[in-house]
Amino acid sequence: MSVTTPPAPFTAEDYRARMDRAAAEAADAGLAGILVAPGPDLVHLTGYQPTATTERLTVLVLAAGREPVLVVPTLEAPDAEQAPGAAAFTLRDWTDGKDPYAVTAPLLGAGGTGARFGVSDNTWALHLLGLQKALPATSYVSLTEALPMLRAVKDARELERIAAAGAAADEAYREILTVRFEGRRETEVAADLAAALMRFGHSQVDFTVVGSGPNGANPHHEAGERVIERGDMVVLDFGGLKHGYGSDTTRTVHVGEPTDEERRVHDLVREAQQAGFEAVRPGVACQEVDRAARKVITDAGYGAYFIHRTGHGIGVTTHEPPYMVEGEERPIVPGMCFSVEPGVYLPGRFGVRIEDIVTATEDGGGRRFNNTPREMAIVE
Ligand code: ZN
Ligand code: ZN
Ligand code: ZN
Repeated sequence: MSVTTPPAPFTAEDYRARMDRAAAEAADAGLAGILVAPGPDLVHLTGYQPTATTERLTVLVLAAGREPVLVVPTLEAPDAEQAPGAAAFTLRDWTDGKDPYAVTAPLLGAGGTGARFGVSDNTWALHLLGLQKALPATSYVSLTEALPMLRAVKDARELERIAAAGAAADEAYREILTVRFEGRRETEVAADLAAALMRFGHSQVDFTVVGSGPNGANPHHEAGERVIERGDMVVLDFGGLKHGYGSDTTRTVHVGEPTDEERRVHDLVREAQQAGFEAVRPGVACQEVDRAARKVITDAGYGAYFIHRTGHGIGVTTHEPPYMVEGEERPIVPGMCFSVEPGVYLPGRFGVRIEDIVTATEDGGGRRFNNTPREMAIVE
């Protein structure tokens, strides 16, 4: 797909299928249903994103055996009616001065008989407390805890968007290799990266990490006022949303000729990233991706310097389940999209990280959505 052709929009049928799947997963998890506040889960299930998340209750109610209902403040109803998935749910509005929890409570069906509902993590405490008061015998659990894989498996049309976002991020990387690094502040290179992401079709930039020299050894460093010098390693980690889906890629470049040690550490991380990628197969536990990448780094004696998990999921947000981390025993399923991003961080000196977004395919392997060279690029 070219960067200028937007993909066909999702249809009400797409959203209906997602809500049906969520309801089925909720039932499997022993829940009477789920309650979804504005945020990534609501975008995923209905395509609806209110312009502002406010103290006024907005909630999607998916209750077992009932049609989906979106409860909205009356003044938001015209916008909600325009949501891409609007044909797949019933709208119920409530006006200022009325009790929105009294409107919502009957929609939970068996509420009052000890039923359990999953609640999206970003639900305001105000609203959950209001529902608890209206339905004292109903209990609530975190949706992320109960259904961590709700958004994890992407369908073909979502994969197309993630591929397009990855390709755009790759274009931004190719472009950044041509800008000057030496003598410029990290924030200036970060601004170049952000501009490139937008130019290649992103609607939103979530992060532009430019970690030069010792700053690269801090994985949380974004970009600061440090002036990049000749001899610096520079970690570049950037991404955002394009057509509603995320990109996130990291390459580590060097200003001028690297030392033997810098080359060795970079090669090591590249080998670890490759090992993590090769571990990606349907049915394999997520933690095996972490183990495969970590083993390479640990065997080389740098295990203490790889200080984060190997990956995270990506979709309508740039960080979400599944996590590629020790202890995550859930299997990789075709259509899951996540990062493989090992790193080595030498405090006070430099860091190296290499990151691609990958998916597991039906025919058994991994597919990368970032395809720029992983060898160390030399920049000026
Ligand atoms: Zn150097
Ligand atoms: Zn990243
Ligand atoms: Zn990442």
